[in-house]
Amino acid sequence: MAHPNDLRDARFLLDVDTRPPNPVPPTILTNAAAMRRWRAANSGSCGFVPTMGYLHEGHMELVRRSIEENLHTVVSIFVNPMQFGPNEDFSRYPRDEVRDLAQLSAAGVDAVYLPNANDMYPEGYQTYVDVERVTLPLEGAARPGHFRGVTTVVLKLFNAVGADRAYFGRKDAQQLRVVQRMVRDLDVGTEVVACPIVREADGLAMSSRNVYLTPEQRSASTILKRSLDLAGDRWAAGERDANTLRALVRDNIATEPLAEIDYISLADDVSLEELSGLVTRPALLSLVVKFGKTRLLDNVELA
Ligand code: AMP
Repeated sequence: MAHPNDLRDARFLLDVDTRPPNPVPPTILTNAAAMRRWRAANSGSCGFVPTMGYLHEGHMELVRRSIEENLHTVVSIFVNPMQFGPNEDFSRYPRDEVRDLAQLSAAGVDAVYLPNANDMYPEGYQTYVDVERVTLPLEGAARPGHFRGVTTVVLKLFNAVGADRAYFGRKDAQQLRVVQRMVRDLDVGTEVVACPIVREADGLAMSSRNVYLTPEQRSASTILKRSLDLAGDRWAAGERDANTLRALVRDNIATEPLAEIDYISLADDVSLEELSGLVTRPALLSLVVKFGKTRLLDNVELA
């Protein structure tokens, strides 16, 4: 007779297996009509998390929050060609649909919307959403056409999913503000919920693109959060001079030879207009730094 603790005995394995039953796998929807039919058949509050896949804990936090706050949760995975410039990383953007679906299934997501580019942008496509001033600086200046691609696809996804709430990360600070502006300006019925930045243990903001970093670049990348923290501490201690705060970040990042600064910005928290002199209202300190070809974004809100 085997001892009850002997897990090699299958009879006792059954006794000790207290795991909950596997969650029902999410329904997969591959075009807008199917997505809309699913939503019509599933009444009650619905949360939506739009992503480009290659999911990490940053995405999964949004998913968990949506599951907590809504009866249903839909996640989309779509690497949107319209928001990539001709010399950007669209074709090499990391993809792993099998792993993504396993994670979403384990989290208990109800539906995954996986449209393809031909259905999203069929021949003859000619309609775009352009948000104006808030798209001009920062990522808008560095990546012409990027936000037009973002707002166009987000509105299309919102229309197909019909969610009550959509969850966005503060990591992409300008994207969040642009989508908030679009939702207000166009009376979109989906509420935008902003969620905190999720970071690795050493402070690097999680991103699908972190996989591009070499081990040396990966360890050098911790300079970003440390530099933002330095400015955050000075802000908390009462420093309000915009140039001083920007210079603090710039000088600190300049000590890292692998880091190439694209921009460092201290801007009005809502309009994203660059600030000068004494800062008297909530501000967004944001930066893009390149390590090799990889652009890393990070930011901190100073309020
Ligand atoms: P992406 O797949 O990069 O388009 O991101 C999908 C959503 O996840 C966006 O709302 C991002 O802001 C959000 N997100 C990405 N990385 C993080 C992170 N580290 N923390 C919080 N949200 C994130």
